Parts: sequence; structure tokens; C-alpha cells
Amino acid sequence: MDAHGRISIRELQSKPVDLKATQKDPWVGELLQRAAPPENVIGVSRAHWVAQSELRTEVRIEKVASDYMVTGSLSGRVLSTCSRCADPFPIVRSTDFRLFLVPKNSGTEEEASDDPDYVFFEGESISLPEILAEQLIVLEGVAECPRRKGDGSCSFCGKNPKFQQAESGQGTKTLAASLTSDQLEKLKALKL
Ligand SMILES: [Zn+2]
Repeated sequence: MDAHGRISIRELQSKPVDLKATQKDPWVGELLQRAAPPENVIGVSRAHWVAQSELRTEVRIEKVASDYMVTGSLSGRVLSTCSRCADPFPIVRSTDFRLFLVPKNSGTEEEASDDPDYVFFEGESISLPEILAEQLIVLEGVAECPRRKGDGSCSFCGKNPKFQQAESGQGTKTLAASLTSDQLEKLKALKL
């Protein structure tokens, strides 16, 4: 495997390749770079998102008949958007995967094209950052609705001091005067 996480299929002809890596390995850094959500979605730059991410992966790549099978796991912690407060916060991510890599023009495109576990590749090598980034990206769409803890704070991002203040008996009118319009909107939404 080269530094960019590309494995030559020639390497796989006789035996499987087993890898363990973390975000400190350049190719996992590349994987994170590809998986980073756009800045206008998450509110932080891609570079910041990558720098804040921790990721461990174990991967086995092996030849199975005329295709290649990639099995393993990704686990770690990345920044996500709190679905309640819209702020970025670190969330645990963990997934197992089993993918079949099918050489393009092998004649099996038709039957495999609807199955997300089938990935087509061209050329003489397999790019791990490319195919594993997809495994991380699919987790980003998972909708989550965080609870509030007993003290009123969000169980995801830990925010909400203003809400807590309002609930602990302080006059809402006085409090409202000191809030920005954005905070006031959030407060109104909470009281519904
Ligand atoms: Zn939150």
C-alpha cells in the first residue's frame, strides 16, 4: 500500500492485506478529508473538522473469485451538528462494513448496481480513503434528537444555560431583554 492508501490489486493475488490505522496515518487523514461535511452545513472548516476527528480502522482486503472483498470497522469521534441546538459537538461513530469491489467492465455491473455494498473500481488499484470515506459519510445523515439532562442542558452538546435560567424562576421578561433574537427564538421554541 502506498502513503495515500492505494493498494495495488497485484498485492492481493496471493494473500489478504490486513491493516490497522488511526487518524495519525496519512491515508486515514485523507479519508477524513473526504468525509468532512461542507463548512456551511457544520459551521467549521474542513481542516478544523479533520483536526478534531479521532478515527481508528481495521481493514482486511482480499481477493474473492474475480472480485475483492473489504471488511473491517471504523470507530472514533467526529464533530456533528447537534440537531437540537445546531452547534457542532463531538459524537461517537462506529460501524462495521463488508464491501465487494468489482472491477469495471467485468460484466456484473447490471446485477450489482443497486446494492450499496458493491463498489466499482477502475484500474489496477483500490483507494481505501475513497471507499471508506463513504462508510463514514452515510452515518452523517442519521437524524438524532438529543434529550435534555436534569439541569436543562442538551445531552449532546451540553449547551443551554439560558434555558436553564428561564426555568429556574427568573422573570422571563427581564431575561428576554438580555437575549439576542436568536436565543429568544430558541427560548420560544422550547416553551411550545
Ligand atoms: Zn445540543
